[in-house]
Amino acid sequence: MESMGAQGEFDLIVAGAGPAGSACAITAARAGQRVLLLDKDKFPRHKVCGEFVSAESLHLLQSLMGDATRHEFAARAQVPAARVFLDGKSISLPVAPPARSIPRFDLDAALLASARQCGVRVEEGAAVRLVNWNGTFTVHAAETAFTGTAVVNATGRWSQLTQYDVAGNNDKCIGLKAHFREAAPPSSVDLYFFPGGYCGVTPVDGETVNACAMVHSGAARSLDEVFAAHPELWRRSRDWQPVFSAVTTSPLYFRKPEACDQGMLLAGDSAGFIDPFAGDGISLALHGGALAAESLLPFLTGKISLERSQQEYRSAYVHRFLPAFRNAARLRALLAVPKWIRSRLLGLVGSRPVANLIVRRTRAQV
Ligand SMILES: Cc1cc2nc3c(=O)[nH]c(=O)nc-3n(C[C@H](O)[C@H](O)[C@H](O)COP(=O)(O)OP(=O)(O)OC[C@H]3O[C@@H](n4cnc5c(N)ncnc54)[C@H](O)[C@@H]3O)c2cc1C
Repeated sequence: MESMGAQGEFDLIVAGAGPAGSACAITAARAGQRVLLLDKDKFPRHKVCGEFVSAESLHLLQSLMGDATRHEFAARAQVPAARVFLDGKSISLPVAPPARSIPRFDLDAALLASARQCGVRVEEGAAVRLVNWNGTFTVHAAETAFTGTAVVNATGRWSQLTQYDVAGNNDKCIGLKAHFREAAPPSSVDLYFFPGGYCGVTPVDGETVNACAMVHSGAARSLDEVFAAHPELWRRSRDWQPVFSAVTTSPLYFRKPEACDQGMLLAGDSAGFIDPFAGDGISLALHGGALAAESLLPFLTGKISLERSQQEYRSAYVHRFLPAFRNAARLRALLAVPKWIRSRLLGLVGSRPVANLIVRRTRAQV
């Protein structure tokens, strides 16, 4: 039998307050729903991320921000170009329209502040341990149990709620990131590829860069080892001064995206993790979070069942987001082909129409 949902203490409980969770909570609260947003962390906090925010998400991001931060974020560093350093060669590509570089320290905290402003109840330092469904959802977080009519899992790639069978998956990587002082960095996002991984360097402002790497654990265990793995990156980083200690995350691995699980809608990385070099994870998270809330609204207002809401979300997810995952996976596979073939392909990628096509194909349809 289809469930129309019994009333919970909250209409919607969102687990995880990254870009996906906050986007979801803000969208639902603005539509008049009673929303609880739970995160295990306390904000602001640093997070492993290249912090390249693609143009496709900037409009939505602006609309999700509160009045105080909306204009400030529009003025963040523009990234109008990308440079790829691979096999001793480098190519430059336009990023048009330009992306922005926005530290997660600021971005996630600003979205959370906006959620609070919209009337969302926010609990920081509240790790969700368990979710039960029995007509309503009961969400156990920290020492408290909350009830909700619907739940969105936006807890990222790997959490108590988002664990997948990775047995036999040997493609596991770690992520590392820190900011460094660099005088007058170029305005491009620079991707340095080396055996076992790559490192992206993005300007944060006129005197700081973000260096963020994804590497096989056997290839490097620290950012110093990452920098030493690429001659040009090593030369560039020699005079860098760290702004804060490196943060790390693991495991990173890829799997088939899933839009729903155990009655919950999955949004952002908890639904699927796109290769970071595509620079679209934050955009997918913001759009996915907003879409999850929009898909649940007809259920929360008694018009359709939870199952129907899930079906609508799943089909919109497949249509709008899955092509970006597939195309990013194809690009990743190209990195594994023999060097002489890769070298020819790189020549092709250097042409503007091909580069534009590749960028478009790895973007969420918004
Ligand atoms: C190395 C690397 C580089 C990247 N670079 C870029 C880039 O340049 N551009 C880009 O667009 N994307 C990039 N990404 C991807 C991007 O970081 C993610 O796609 C994005 O953060 C997804 O947002 P999210 O809200 O789904 O998840 P997250 O940002 O991971 O947020 C999940 C939240 O859930 C919380 N949480 C976890 N478990 C629980 C729990 N049990 N209870 C409550 N809360 C919980 C966490 O504390 C966190 O705040 C990169 C990723 C990596 C690993």
